[in-house]
Amino acid sequence: MIEIQNVRKSFGALEVLKGIDLTVHNGEVLTIIGGSGSGKSTLLTCINGLEPIDSGRILVDGTEVHARSTDLNKLRQKIGIVFQQWNAFPHLTVLENVMLAPRKVKGMSKPDAEAMAVKQLEHVGLGDKLSVYPSRLSGGQQQRMAIARALAMSPKYMLFDEVTSALDPMLVGEVLDTLRLLASDGMTMICVTHEMKFAREVSDRVAFFHQGVMAEIAPPAELFGAPKSPDLQKFLAATA
Ligand code: ATP
Ligand code: MG
Repeated sequence: MIEIQNVRKSFGALEVLKGIDLTVHNGEVLTIIGGSGSGKSTLLTCINGLEPIDSGRILVDGTEVHARSTDLNKLRQKIGIVFQQWNAFPHLTVLENVMLAPRKVKGMSKPDAEAMAVKQLEHVGLGDKLSVYPSRLSGGQQQRMAIARALAMSPKYMLFDEVTSALDPMLVGEVLDTLRLLASDGMTMICVTHEMKFAREVSDRVAFFHQGVMAEIAPPAELFGAPKSPDLQKFLAATA
């Protein structure tokens, strides 16, 4: 379970998160939507401790992310994060790229890391690209490799930040299919996305962020079907 309790965060004079309260339950798929600059990415980077917070608490399975005593490296093994773009190591094959973190961070043996990497690459539909170099992959395949790389660490939680927004429209579908598959496997996921159709179909709940506030949160049918706040109504009208 990920518990976000009254989290505030500023960059200089700009308050980016204005007291966020949110609990993500195990097995839940939570989607975050909202305008540019509303604090979506910042929240994700706070959850895995990449960014400090000013006040409040974030607990992952009861461990306080920003407590001094927390072993962040250990905690981060539980939380996979995939961004818009990931720069793979160009001189390593797809398989070697995916094996790297399990080898280096988890100290897995080479055969174990290889078996795990193959399994995850097959899972995302890249079983036939193991010995290819990343530059030979399409954008969608590169994103699926990034997902396989995160999965190879056997995370309990996955955070996705607009993983399809740098892609050619033709390639968006295959990456969303991969996320759907993960969701149907029961992975606990927080997905920041601009893909409203995806949010509607896959999420257990959708949260709408507006200017650093979680203005609305509800199951998709309710949030999209009967948006309450004028800001969400405006946002949905603009993205339709
Ligand atoms: P988008 O949809 O465009 O990705 P977002 O909701 O993810 O937007 P954030 O990236 O969380 O928005 O940014 C929220 C605000 O914080 C923005 O005004 C941004 O300029 C600012 N911000 C983000 N990161 C930093 C940083 N490292 N230093 C200073 N300001 C930052
Ligand atoms: Mg963002």
